[in-house]
Amino acid sequence: MEPAGTRAPASPGSSDSSDSSDFGAAVFDLEDADVHALIEPTRRALEQRRVPVAATSASQDSGTAIDAARALGVEPGHAVLLTDSPARVQAGRRAGFGLIVGLAPDHLEARAAALRDSGADVVVGSLAQVTPGALDTWFVQNTRGLPSALARWPEIADRLRGRRPALFLDYDGTLVPIARDPDQAFLPHATREIVRQLAARVPVAIVSGRGRAKIMHFVAMDEIAYAGSHGFDISGPHGSFHWQQDHGLLAAMARASAGLRQALAGVLGVEGVEIEEKGFSTAVHYRQAAPADLPEIERRVDRVLGGEPGLLKTHGKKVIEVRPRIDWHKGRAVLWLLDALGLEGDDVLPVYVGDDVTDEDAFEALRERGLGILVSERPRPSAATYAVRDPDQVRELLARLAAALDPGQPGGNADPG
Ligand SMILES: [Mg+2]
Repeated sequence: MEPAGTRAPASPGSSDSSDSSDFGAAVFDLEDADVHALIEPTRRALEQRRVPVAATSASQDSGTAIDAARALGVEPGHAVLLTDSPARVQAGRRAGFGLIVGLAPDHLEARAAALRDSGADVVVGSLAQVTPGALDTWFVQNTRGLPSALARWPEIADRLRGRRPALFLDYDGTLVPIARDPDQAFLPHATREIVRQLAARVPVAIVSGRGRAKIMHFVAMDEIAYAGSHGFDISGPHGSFHWQQDHGLLAAMARASAGLRQALAGVLGVEGVEIEEKGFSTAVHYRQAAPADLPEIERRVDRVLGGEPGLLKTHGKKVIEVRPRIDWHKGRAVLWLLDALGLEGDDVLPVYVGDDVTDEDAFEALRERGLGILVSERPRPSAATYAVRDPDQVRELLARLAAALDPGQPGGNADPG
């Protein structure tokens, strides 16, 4: 349900100054001649760093990216593949490339989604995002993974010394496993108890792509803050405040939703298309639709959006999401909440835990001043600092945090603030 978009986790620029790279070669394997014309600056920047670069194109057969890496004297596992083609992403995955970067120029959002679905590790909307430093960071994160937050707990405990955490938690995939039926994603009892213990001592907020009412229904705790709809709709602990983005957006979304229902009612075989209105966004789920109907579905969505310049569409897994065209996301919502809750001082360590592409905005927003913890089964490029594997490990992490804040416990922090 989270949009895939064309965002890539931002990378620290620090490694750009280094003159060596963690990967041994870069192979551009491209289908679109227009993209060929765009790669030159990236190619030159890599060659200045003495990274061997090869470019193969559609006229050659699908084995060429692997052959090209080997011709440069590098096994695919130590090379980066950059491609605009979902089929080539899949071939690169099978060949075991260390990092696969999907290239989707901004106007081709359907391609960005297809690249991600095919297994690209990172999808970028512009070649300007592909600096040697960014490739280094993504490659290292993708092949070695982020350090485990549990294994490195002493480091985290160190950062907490003399400061109190402010906890920002994504919901689906973070506190609860991704449910087959999204309406049944209730918070497990054990997790609820730990979140409650934490909320008695430090500020806690749930930050979700779901509507705020839905997420409050699942979590059912009055003492914490909630940011729903990717932060477009925020409420404070005990209803202390309630803030929404401009209401004009809701009116535009309602118009678009009505338009989408009408426009999609007539698509052939659309028992498979489901429209979910979430207030600040509307999802067009097409997981049951025939692939052949997709272009028509997309055309009809575009026709509706043609009359709503304030809205845009993004692509997620088997879903087109229509949302306001404004620069607001989970990261901005977290910064807004830190201000609203009076938590901007150096004595506070904001901690954000999340698993989605949309959580990267929050990791990025807190990169300098807080701690980002990614929830992911496998290594993945991210702006987070640490990772845990799954919601069970999130619960373990929260339990350690609760214990560290409890002055009665051995090793507990007597001064949580
Ligand atoms: Mg999530």
